[in-house]
Amino acid sequence: MLVVDRKKEAGVPVQCAEFVPFPVLQKYGHAAGVVCQSVDEMRTHLPDGDIICTRSRGAVCNRDRFDKYLAGLAAGAGAEIIYGASASRCEDGVVSVNVPGRVWEAKPAVIVGADGPCSIVRRWMGLRANNCVRGRQHLLPLGLRLRTTEIYFSNGIPGGYGWVFPKGEVANVGVGVEPHHGESSLSVLSRFVEDLYSQNILMDVKPLSVTGGLIPVGGPSAVRRDNMILAGDAAGHCHPVSGAGVANAIFAGELAGEAAARAAAGKMSLLAEYDDACRLFLDPGLKKAAGKRQSLSSFWGKGPRQLSAALKKNWIAFEAYYQD
Ligand SMILES: Cc1cc2nc3c(=O)[nH]c(=O)nc-3n(C[C@H](O)[C@H](O)[C@H](O)COP(=O)(O)OP(=O)(O)OC[C@H]3O[C@@H](n4cnc5c(N)ncnc54)[C@H](O)[C@@H]3O)c2cc1C
Repeated sequence: MLVVDRKKEAGVPVQCAEFVPFPVLQKYGHAAGVVCQSVDEMRTHLPDGDIICTRSRGAVCNRDRFDKYLAGLAAGAGAEIIYGASASRCEDGVVSVNVPGRVWEAKPAVIVGADGPCSIVRRWMGLRANNCVRGRQHLLPLGLRLRTTEIYFSNGIPGGYGWVFPKGEVANVGVGVEPHHGESSLSVLSRFVEDLYSQNILMDVKPLSVTGGLIPVGGPSAVRRDNMILAGDAAGHCHPVSGAGVANAIFAGELAGEAAARAAAGKMSLLAEYDDACRLFLDPGLKKAAGKRQSLSSFWGKGPRQLSAALKKNWIAFEAYYQD
């Protein structure tokens, strides 16, 4: 199996708040330096001032090390990985890959698009781009020690939320913002950071590093056309309400890799089984979340009490999320 990644190095730059849930860590979190800070709970701060603490076991990780570890496992299982190689075209099944100074071509038996929120394979399949929230994040020094992941909802962060995910003495501080509300994610983040600083949650407003990226929130799409399949963000496997996508990307990626390897060895019908598995295991939860996101959409800009009431029905920390 040949893997091409346009990044020059696995997992770099990190475009993630780096929270990895416990079940994933149990399987893949043992490599040295992956786990940075274990957490057991998430605190949700609502616009009306309520704070709710819920169980959310996992760890804030070093995602670059995590991705490198996973890439190492793939290589150990026989994958050849080429970095700095960008898939650019597919015509009559022939894929063009740009590497510095030249373009090479290959005609794969199966093409797996695990190429993130701006997936080119998704385009080759004729699917429209997923709706995305814009994520922007700074690494900042904490003013106090945090033992929980912190989620902040407010009308100042429209269509998304702010997060503070602790990594010892520093934290990933970020926001996800729906673009149609008209404010840039950077100005929303700056305001969020100033607010946290004024509460002494942060020691400084000057970032130690900056990152960001798109978070697909439109829900799952088709995952197969002919010999092409999609997995992870490319397929809309990111949770439309929480924006968490690592666990599903790994789950779908494992299934897709297995199906592709066996299909390439002669059983193309196995790609249909991958499609079935996604429909069965991923789509119901993701479609429900997409519906919850839709229900929330008309409450942005309403008063803090109304927005909080809507969040109590549509945010993953609340019982009501799971009841209907
Ligand atoms: C700011 C931010 C914070 C987040 N925080 C969290 C979090 O804390 N926890 C969580 O679970 N999820 C989080 N997510 C979501 C999570 O990062 C993604 O859901 C997850 O990385 C999806 O994995 P993936 O493999 O599908 O896509 P990606 O991680 O995006 O990987 C896609 C890969 O494809 C490569 N690629 C793209 N196009 C091409 C091409 N044409 N040719 C070759 N290679 C290509 C890219 O270089 C990249 O390596 C966050 C996302 C953002 C943007």
